Order: sequence, then C-alpha cells, then structure tokens
Amino acid sequence: MSTRKITLSEKEIPEAWYNIVADMPNKPLPPLHPGTRAPIGPEALAPLFPMALIQQEVSQEKWIEIPEEVREVYKIWRPTPMFRARNLEKALDTPAKIYYKYEGVSPSGSHKPNTAVAQAYYNKQEGVKRITTETGAGQWGSALSFACQHFGIECEVYMVKISFKQKPYRKILMNTWGAQVYASPTDTTEAGRKVLAMDPDSPGSLGIAISEAVERAASDEHTKYALGSVLNHVLMHQTVIGLEAVKQMEKAGDLPDIVVAPFGGGSNFAGISFPFLRLNLEEGKNIRCIASEPASCPKLTRGVFRYDFGDMVGMTPLLPMYTLGHNFVPAPIHAGGLRYHGAGVVVSQLLRDKLIEARAHDQLECFEAGVLFAKTEGILPAPETNHAIATAIQEAKRCKEEGRAETILIHLCGHGNFDLAAYETYLSGNLEHHEVTQEEIEANLAQLDTPTID
Ligand SMILES: *Cc1c(COP(=O)(O)O)cnc(C)c1O
Repeated sequence: MSTRKITLSEKEIPEAWYNIVADMPNKPLPPLHPGTRAPIGPEALAPLFPMALIQQEVSQEKWIEIPEEVREVYKIWRPTPMFRARNLEKALDTPAKIYYKYEGVSPSGSHKPNTAVAQAYYNKQEGVKRITTETGAGQWGSALSFACQHFGIECEVYMVKISFKQKPYRKILMNTWGAQVYASPTDTTEAGRKVLAMDPDSPGSLGIAISEAVERAASDEHTKYALGSVLNHVLMHQTVIGLEAVKQMEKAGDLPDIVVAPFGGGSNFAGISFPFLRLNLEEGKNIRCIASEPASCPKLTRGVFRYDFGDMVGMTPLLPMYTLGHNFVPAPIHAGGLRYHGAGVVVSQLLRDKLIEARAHDQLECFEAGVLFAKTEGILPAPETNHAIATAIQEAKRCKEEGRAETILIHLCGHGNFDLAAYETYLSGNLEHHEVTQEEIEANLAQLDTPTID
C-alpha cells in the first residue's frame, strides 16, 4: 500500500521555536519612531506587549524554548498531519510529487492558535488580565479567544463592522470561547468616536479596529494588545509547523524542491518555510520557498521596499518592509486574511536578499484551484490557502512540461468551512476577476512620505 498520511507522535512536538534572524546574512533594519523617525528600542513596545514577547521580538538567539504549558496545549491538535496529494497529482497528470501539511485540524481551523496560545501564556505569566485585538474576517480573533479562554484571560475583539454583519459565524465562535466582540468603529474609544462623528454608518476597516484595540490596551495597565501576524515573535511561534514538516518529509524519504504558502503578513509562510530555509542557509540545500499573494494586493511582487507604518492611521513604529503604502485599500476580495498593505520585516529582508520568491494570483484562478483540491483531496481550503494551491498547480504543470519529478510541499494553513459564502459566489459564477492596475499602485505610492531605503 502506498503512503498517504505521514504522522508524528506527541513526543515529536518541537521543543524550541526557530529564530531565523540568527542565520540571516543581512539582519533586519531597526524600526523607527513614527514621530521623530529615529530608531527605537524594545522599551517603546512595553505599554502594549509583555516583556517576554518583546525580548523575543528583538532576539538573535537561534532557538527559543517552548514552555511546557504551551506544548501541553499544542497537544490538542499537534503534531499536525502531512499528506501526499496522490489524487491531485493524478488529476494534473504530473510527474511532480505533491505533499501538504494541514493546519486546519486546530480548534479554530487554521495555523493561528500556534501563536495565540504562546502569546496568551506569556501575558498570563506577567499578570495581564485582559488582551485586546482586532480581527477582519475572524480567523485571528477566534484563535485568540480560544487561547485566552484556556489561560483564564479576558479577550476583547474589535471586529471590522462590515465583517461583523456579513460573517456572523466567526463571531459566534468567539463568543462561545467567552470573548467580547465589538463591531468596530465603536463609541467606547476616542478613535472610534472620531470616525463615527465623521461617518455614523462607517463600515469600519482593519486600520480603525487596530487603533481601537491599541487605545484600549495603552490606557489600562492590566490590558495588553496582541497581533496575529507581521511581527518577528509571531512568525517565530509559527515555526513549529515547518519543524514538524522537516521531520515528516524525512520520514517520507523525500525533501521538497519547492515549498509554497499563502501570504498575508507572513506568519504561515514563515512557519512552514523558515525551517526549510535553515537547510539552505546551513547545509547549502536549494529549496525554493514561494509566497503566494492576491493580484489585488501584490505587495511582494509589485510593492516597494521602504519604511512604512503597520497600520493605516500612522500610529505604529515605521518598519522596513515591502509595501503598497499604508493608505492602500485593497478590493474586497474573499481572501480577507491577505488584504494587508505590507509584509513582515524578516520576510521582506529575505525577499530583498533573493532568498525567497513571490508570486501573485487572481482570485478566480485561486478558487478554481481550491475547488480542484476539494474534489481530489477532500478538504475544503480557506480562500487564503487557495493562493498556495494555485502556485503549486502552476509548478506541477511546469514539471509536466519539463518532464521533471520535483517535490512540492503546500502549506494547507486553514480549512474553508466558515467561508462557504465565498464558495457559493464562485460556484454560482458571480466571482469577479480582480487585479490592481499599475496606475493605482503608482498613485498610491506617490503619496508616501516615509523614509526610503537605498
Ligand atoms: C490569517 C490567515 C492568513 C494570512 O496571514 P499570514 O500571517 O500571512 O499567515 C492566511 N491563511 C489563513 C487560513 C489565515 O487564517
């Protein structure tokens, strides 16, 4: 019988996270103060995050031990399975071998609890009573709600108002785990009231929701703030995925030539790819790591590398990143988790140094890929995940043309069981092609006055 599922035992849950900064040939440039534009140190983050996470954010240690209490919670769904996608290979009639690592088995259905649990744990250790955050479509809010519930911390989620109305199921999931969910903008914060005064019917945005969550945390000493992507410590927590995947590929007697993952702020991409990049950096392997992004929000393939704000209002430190501009408003495509203007600092530096690759796909091509995956492999992928499947299919087709039996590893970072409305739109033929134009990108970048990088 041929192998299909490659599993690990509980004992094989990684004992340390991998910090790729230790191995990077060019270290990331420092963040700058949003007002003075001078480099800032870790102490500037102290009002918002617990010290343990701030230390991880600036650490150059290669391995950071995973606390036993965190590994204990990981056991609910880790190690996650890896599969050989034999039916997809057959449908594509490709000589390529395709594997996927599946994070949809977590309680909230994606990779996000890997960092949510770690963040809730360190906050608990430092006596934090409440964590605030923002969420768009709800993946991050539900992961953090689950984690806070586990450690007995209150969780306050500012959910973009339009998603709050259109996607009630994620909100109910958050409520079930005991979180308070607010439709942002609210009238309980200064930032929210300001927006409502200008537009009482504002549909909200991630930028406004971030401002509200940050304001709440900054104004109460028992409350901290948590972010689900972009920051170094978040990317590092996700490396449990790739560390397991390296072992699973070994078990399968294989090594990927290509690793593909969807890209929003970079956390799931970092999670699967950094442990494979370590093999490139340390052992001279030549594994291609490809980040897949939407053609309607193409910061990696068509953005610029410069300093920019993490939020839309310009409150966060300036970070050196690939960006379309913090003022960029992407079209309302269905992959909500990929509608972010910038990329994490570490991933941006790796792309700048040509150690990773990026590719953009239109949403129609992505749903076509996702539906083929569901028909052949059974799992309905999240709309974000469909981007990686689209890249993998392109590569598998190239392998067929070139007659090469390369090995492709897809990061199946989440299931799409809460995203059925998007699939309904696709299946009924109403999903629209969307690609941002060069004029739109240039007009937007022309408005930036943040520091450039040579
Ligand atoms: C949040 C999310 C993403 C995008 O965020 P990254 O930090 O880039 O991983 C992608 N896929 C799924 C399923 C998500 O929930």
